[in-house]
Formats: sequence, structure tokens, C-alpha cells
Amino acid sequence: MIIYGTNGSHVRTEPLPGVACPACHTADRMHASVFSRYIHIYWVPLLPYRKPAVALCQHCQGIWELAQLPAEADDIKQALRAKKKATRAPWWQWSGLAVLTLGVVWAADASIRDGHDNDAFLAAPRAGDIYTVRNDSSRNYSLLKVVRAHANTVDVIASAYETDDSQPVKKLNHAQYFGKDTVTLTHLDLLGMKNQGQLTDVDRETE
Ligand SMILES: [Zn+2]
Repeated sequence: MIIYGTNGSHVRTEPLPGVACPACHTADRMHASVFSRYIHIYWVPLLPYRKPAVALCQHCQGIWELAQLPAEADDIKQALRAKKKATRAPWWQWSGLAVLTLGVVWAADASIRDGHDNDAFLAAPRAGDIYTVRNDSSRNYSLLKVVRAHANTVDVIASAYETDDSQPVKKLNHAQYFGKDTVTLTHLDLLGMKNQGQLTDVDRETE
């Protein structure tokens, strides 16, 4: 269950000079208060969505939202709209969205980095590299492990198991799961497999 809701905060209160109260007609005692409503998820502000504003009289304590102001108080309406327009939601009301955006950018960046690594690892294979491969007919994933790397070819052994998990390394990368027969693949074979989506990832243990 996701807990979300809305909340609001006061942003500013400022005098509205030159206008008179629509109720008590006292001059120069009107003020404008602008608030900002925001959506929160688990009480973390996600984004602001509305800026309610009220006009209030400090003499008679009268208070009006924009729509409640009488037609003849057009000067107050205009001043209130101007204050509303000039008011920005406080930055912290965007914090949830900022965190989400950072998360998405980070994830995209990580997958690009991962893609670059794959190309680099394929171009210069090493013994111990693990290729994630996808079976064309079953659509399941399995592993090939490089046991020897030569200038233009690699000798690989294949995992005897496959899984529908597209990140099968944790599950399948155990010595006893691999067969003993080696298959030799050329650099060109590997690139072809990668371009056809048959080789989906390369992992290398960093020492
Ligand atoms: Zn008043």
C-alpha cells in the first residue's frame, strides 16, 4: 500500500496597498496570503499543484478567497492574482520528484555504463568472463563462461540450466552447473549474438 495525500504550507503574506476592505471599507489594511498545496507520498513532498490565495482585512478580520470577493472589489482580485502569480512554491515541495528524477537518471546512466562495459569486455575477452545468453526458442536465459581467451576466439563452457530471470548470474554461476565440453566462438560470433539479442550481458569479476 502506498500512503499519499496532500498538504499545504503558507508561503507569504504581504500588504495590498491602495485598496479598501470590501466589508468595512478601511483603506490600506488589506493583505494577501498565498499558500502552496502539494502532494506527498509517505509524507515526503512530491510536487506542488495549487496556490490558493486569500485577501484579509486586518481591521475587521474579514477573509476572502478569490472567488468569494464581491464583483466591485475588482482591484483586490487583480492585486491578489498578481501576488499569486509572483509566488513560487517552496523548493522543498519538489524534493520527492527531485529524488525520483535523480534515481531515474542514475539508473539510465548505470545501464549505459553497463552497455559500454559489455562492448569493452567482448572486444577484449578474458578467462572468467560470463556471458548471459538467451535461448531463441524457450526465451529463457543461460550462461556461457570463458575458460580460455585467444586473440580472435574464446573457448566457452555452457551452463546446463536456464531460467526466465534476465539476470541469471547469481542463480546459475556455480561451477557444478557448467558442462565440461568447450565450444570455440570467434569474436565475430560474439558480436553477431549480441546484435541479435542472443547475448544480453557480459559480467567480469573485478579483481
Ligand atoms: Zn475590513
